[in-house]
Parts: sequence; structure tokens; C-alpha cells
Amino acid sequence: MSQALKAESAAPETAPMKDMKEIVALCKRRGFIFPASDIYGGINGFWDFGPLGVELKNNLRDLWWKHMVLTPPLGPEGTEYAGQPVEIVGLDSAIIQNPKAWVASGHVGGFSDPMVDCRETKLRYRADHLLVYKPKSGDGPWLAIMENTEDDEIEKRIKKVGKGKAADYEVHKLVDLPAAEFTHIIGPDTKTVGTLTEPKQFNLMFHTFIGATGGDENKAYLRPETAQGIFLNFKNVLDSSRVRVPFGIAQVGKAFRNEVNPRNFIFRSREFEQMEMEWFCHPNEAKIWREFWFQERQKFWRAIGLRSDNLRMRDHDQDELSHYAKEGLGTADIEYRFPFTAPDFGELEGIAHRCDFDLTQHQEHSKVKLEYMDPVTQEKFFPHVIEPAAGLTRGVLALLTEGFTPDPNRPSGVYLDFHPSVAPKKAAILPLTAKDEHPVLATKLYMEVREHFNIDLDIKQNIGKRYARQDEIGTPFCFTIDDQTVQDKTLTVRHRNTMKQDRINMDNVVEYMQKNMLLATGRG
Ligand code: ATP
Repeated sequence: MSQALKAESAAPETAPMKDMKEIVALCKRRGFIFPASDIYGGINGFWDFGPLGVELKNNLRDLWWKHMVLTPPLGPEGTEYAGQPVEIVGLDSAIIQNPKAWVASGHVGGFSDPMVDCRETKLRYRADHLLVYKPKSGDGPWLAIMENTEDDEIEKRIKKVGKGKAADYEVHKLVDLPAAEFTHIIGPDTKTVGTLTEPKQFNLMFHTFIGATGGDENKAYLRPETAQGIFLNFKNVLDSSRVRVPFGIAQVGKAFRNEVNPRNFIFRSREFEQMEMEWFCHPNEAKIWREFWFQERQKFWRAIGLRSDNLRMRDHDQDELSHYAKEGLGTADIEYRFPFTAPDFGELEGIAHRCDFDLTQHQEHSKVKLEYMDPVTQEKFFPHVIEPAAGLTRGVLALLTEGFTPDPNRPSGVYLDFHPSVAPKKAAILPLTAKDEHPVLATKLYMEVREHFNIDLDIKQNIGKRYARQDEIGTPFCFTIDDQTVQDKTLTVRHRNTMKQDRINMDNVVEYMQKNMLLATGRG
């Protein structure tokens, strides 16, 4: 990140800097996340989740589903909904919908980002993500550099194509400069001045063709958000279930955006997953529910291990608001301090007041009545919508970076301090040696405990290496079976963070885990 923007940020610099390169390397080494099509050199903006990554992602997805659909929270205090669980049902809609739906939602016309091209390298950049370094002396070229570029990379770039040091430059956003001034600028990947084009809007939706005949009449889109599938099914859900306003419909699934510059590992990718809930309420109650969901969503992220000082709540400025939010109470983001944004923050989840924009649009375009009639008061109205929209894959990145803890005092040099609820493996069963009774007892214990928890049985290799592996994948407990276990059925429990060991009876492992998994982590 640039010095200039760092100085502007008021965020405390409490968290130690974590190195993204090391996090990405650990993810690959231990099977969390691989580049998609790795053996063909990858494909920009696409990632595959490996054996442990898929467990971590499923855990986050399941915890969100539980919080929303299976055990939703009690309604807001001081209202008629206090003390009663709110009502939310689930949905899994198709990724490809009738293209008319995306016209109605405004995506065909307006789901775009500003981009600039470099005429020389043919590379394309998000215009609003480029910073321009302008020499304070007024002498020499101006340099365009992507925001969130590491300080040492900025200095290297200045050394190569500019003069002096970063401190000799003032920093502007490219989009704040008149296009006439672009003639002074050297693009991020060239040495030539004046190669950047004026910003143009670029639609982010991926399209495809349905059926055997191509042609524009068969063009369809991969959904850029899961939300619209929910609005399209508003009437179906009302007609087929007993929900009544206020209620929510929740959905988790893939979304696709042809991002101009996918970057920062899985933070901004072209294929990703979202966890979205559309909360339908009376327009007069939108304010209460917006505040309610804003609080609930923060509690959720803290409860699964994100530290308060790495989270920030931020109201969108008027000029950032989406078309649908302009009339309403606005959008507030829950932001996380990712290593590449630190000491600043990046969006993890947005809580938007979408007003009645989507339902009225779909009614107008589909000609199907989507107004709601209150069965008690007989009042007819379009419900307003409060939408907590979170990134599942971006949430996985927040969990990975939060957990990543360098520790020179252990052989692995690092451990993943996952909250037990998200850890891919809750425990490992390790026989001290691979001979005699040790593996027999370990396998017996494994067969019993795996009925209750997702655990690992790891028999071969020296014990130090096996502990190191479990530290690196964030397993909270290791149970080690040794000679004493054969005699008195006790085994050791090694705690991941403290490396302290206790001795407990083999018959009590499930109970021990249940008790210790529930213990607070002391964060928040
Ligand atoms: P951004 O400003 O980062 O582009 P957005 O405001 O467009 O995000 P929303 O449309 O509100 O995002 O989507 C809801 C959530 O989906 C975001 O908070 C984020 O966690 C996730 N998300 C959006 N775009 C991406 C992406 N390209 N890759 C991964 N996650 C994404």
C-alpha cells in the first residue's frame, strides 16, 4: 500500500504483518488451495479448493447456514419480534436464469467497472484501482501503480522508470485526474509515457449460449450474484410455505464476475462463492432490521474467530451506493484487515437496504404480481429488503489469514490458529510408533471418534513431523498413544496453540473434545 494512503488511514497498527506469499505457499503445500489448471500453468482468477480447503469452506458455509436457516437468531429487543426466532428458509436456484431477469435487475445495463487499456502492452486495468504517483517537483514522468502494491515494489518501480523515492511523489487516484493529463503517465507494465486509454465501462457478466445454435437470441449469463435467484422465487416460496413478512430467504452458491484484474489470491476471483440472505420486511421496519442484521453479522464473524481489531464497520459514501440503495438507508460494509490491505481494510460482507427495487423491477418486466398482502391487516405493499451479502471464498481467506501465526519456537515455524468450529480437522490420532499395539489402539479410537468429529489418523513418520503437519493445518488437538496407553488406557492431548500436554483416559476423548471445543477462545 502507498505511503500516502497509509498515512490517511486511522486504523491502529496492532496486528503483526503477515506475509501473503507465505500464506499462499502454505495453502498449496498443505492442500488448502491450488491454482486452477495448475499443470497447464493456471488460469487467471480461478482457484481449486484442495482436500483441506474444501473442508474449511464447507465448515464456514455450514456455520452460516446454521446461523441463518437452522437456528436463526431471536428478533430485535424492544420490538414485537423480541424473544422469538426470526424466520428464514433456504433456496438453491439455478446459476443460469432467463436473461430477461438480468435485464430487469439492472445487471445487463449497469453491472460494470471502469477500465483503462494500455495501448502498448494490451493489458487492461480497473481504473478505480490505479494510483498515480506525481513528482512533487513537477519534473519527470508520472507513474501509474496498482493500489495495495507493497512498498518495496513501489520503490523498485520508481527506481526503474522514475526518479528519487516514493516520498518525493504525491499520490492521486487515476479516476480523479482529467483524461487530458494521461499523456504524462507511464502505465504499470510499460516504460513508455502516455499509453493509457480513457476509462471505459466494462460489463462484468460472463455469457454463454444455450442449446446447439449459437446466436444472440440464445445468449444467457452466468449469475454475477446469488441474490437474484431469491427474488425470482419470492412468489414461489410464499405460495408453497408458511412464511410471512418479515422473513428471509438464504442461498449459498457460485457467482461469476469477469473481473478486470483478479488479484490478491482468492480475494477477488472470477469464480467465487457467496452467502446471501434477502430479508423481506415492511418498509416502516427497514431501519430496525438493517441495524439488527448489521449487529448479528458482526457477531457471527467474531464467533468463528475473526478478532475485533481486524474487523471494521463502514457506511458507504453516497457516491459508492448501488443504483438500488440510493433511495434507502444505504449500505454498510463489514471489512476485514487483510495482509494486502493492512493497515487498511477490505470488504468481507455488505449489508444493503435494497428497498423494493428488485421486486418492483421483476414485476414490471415479468408482468407477474409480486406485491405482498398482509393476511392479518389486508395491507398490500412491496416488502423492503435488507440484504447481508457475504463472500464465502473471501471469508475463507479471512479465516486463513487470521489463523496464520508465525512461531519460530516450533519446528513448522508456523501454525494455523483456527477457531475449532472452522478447523478442517478437529483432532488427530497419532500412535507414537507404527508397531505393536500403538496403531491397533489408535485405529480403534479413530473409528469411535470419527463418528462425532472430522478427525485425522496419521500413523507413519516421526512424531515431531506429524505434530508439525497438524500445526500447519490448524488441528486443535493431537491425541498420542504410547506404551502407557497400552497399560492404563491413558493418552496425551497436545494443544495446538500452547503445545502443552495433558493426560486423559482414552474412553473420555469424545467428551473431552465436546467440552473443549465449546470453550471460548478468549477472542472478540
Ligand atoms: P467489491 O467491492 O470487493 O468488488 P462488491 O461490493 O461488488 O465487492 P457484492 O456485490 O456486495 O460485492 O458481493 C457480496 C460479497 O461477495 C462481497 O462482500 C465479497 O465478499 C464477495 N465478492 C464480490 N466479488 C468477489 C470476487 N470477485 N471474488 C471473491 N469474492 C467476491
